[in-house]
Amino acid sequence: MASECRFCKSPLEHVVVDLGLSPVSNHFRDSSRVDHEGQTFYPLKALVCESCWLVQLSDVETPPHFYEDYAYFSSFSTSWLAHSERYAKEMQKRLGLGSESFVLELASNDGYLLQHFKNAGINVLGVEPSENVAAYAKEHHGIDSIVEFFGKSLGDELRGKGISADLICCNNVLAHVPDIRDFVSGIGPVLSPDGTVTIEFPHLLQMLTQGQFDTVYHEHYFYLSLLSVERILGECGLAVYGLEQLNTHGGSLRVFAKHTESDVSDEALAATLTEVRNAEAEFGLNSIAGYSGFAARPADCKADLLSFLIDVRKAGKTVCGYGAPAKGNTILNYSGVGPELLPFTTDLSPQKQGKFLPGVNIPVFHPDHIKATRPDYVLILPWNLREEIVQQLSDVRDWGGQFVVAIPELEIF
Ligand SMILES: [Zn+2]
Repeated sequence: MASECRFCKSPLEHVVVDLGLSPVSNHFRDSSRVDHEGQTFYPLKALVCESCWLVQLSDVETPPHFYEDYAYFSSFSTSWLAHSERYAKEMQKRLGLGSESFVLELASNDGYLLQHFKNAGINVLGVEPSENVAAYAKEHHGIDSIVEFFGKSLGDELRGKGISADLICCNNVLAHVPDIRDFVSGIGPVLSPDGTVTIEFPHLLQMLTQGQFDTVYHEHYFYLSLLSVERILGECGLAVYGLEQLNTHGGSLRVFAKHTESDVSDEALAATLTEVRNAEAEFGLNSIAGYSGFAARPADCKADLLSFLIDVRKAGKTVCGYGAPAKGNTILNYSGVGPELLPFTTDLSPQKQGKFLPGVNIPVFHPDHIKATRPDYVLILPWNLREEIVQQLSDVRDWGGQFVVAIPELEIF
């Protein structure tokens, strides 16, 4: 079965990276299932469309309702919460939002972002497909959500109800929506004539230059460049007028877009836009050349990680993991690292504690388990949060322990 581009329907032929077979990264399991049930592995391969330059996963046949038990609460990372608060303040100032303004967030999660607008007296509404997560937003932050998947028909329906947003926040969701054209087509109808939509996403250029192959996992359909996003927005009646570069998720972009016919502009944001357009062109993202060097990176990373873990074991030393993010499951499965090399990992999220990582069956404990066992090394799986984690675990240094990251290169520090 040949895949076709999820946006422009051209045939997909050029492989950017092939990670073989992998379980779905959020299919954590409890011990009874680990002992008695198998787990299905699916192809994990990203290709680039040579017509619209959208990097995307190959089509994988999965059972119905496959991704449904995926419920992610955003409120467990302190640096992420701080990032959201900063975003809300900056947008109020930049766009002059006040008590007459309306902010709509697509994939509003547990309300961690909209709460800051609401507390400033601004009208807010969320769209959040997961019912229990939306209920949490209502209970803890008093934020109303439409419990549905966003797309053209919901956009039209909300417009019919008089919704016209001055700001639409669409942060870290675009990569996760299977029908990207339908999703983006829903934005125009609910955006006020001079409104702004901001779209944040991990920058493909960073993934390619920093060897971040572990950001590839099944729930993450797209790996977005400014080039591909501008094209998608353009075909849906929206134009990018500005850009910011962020250090979240290993290097992200925040795109500012408006209706194509709107006069909204911002000189400082436009300068960064030009800069990143040029950087992408220089790297070759508008030709196959830009994508062809990435395929070898995962194998180099795997070899270094395995050498390190094998050396630790042979030396009679100890190591554990910190974090149980989707990206950790990609690198551990791709590298074939099980509990024989990494006996446990830890995570602050209670939903993951007591479970086992998909595929590799490494148990997940509360981070207190690190202090109790005093390992020689702590492998930080969410390397994008390394500074925050090293601070939280400062007592590791007290017993002479060291930290390790595997991306962009193996580093012990
Ligand atoms: Zn395409």
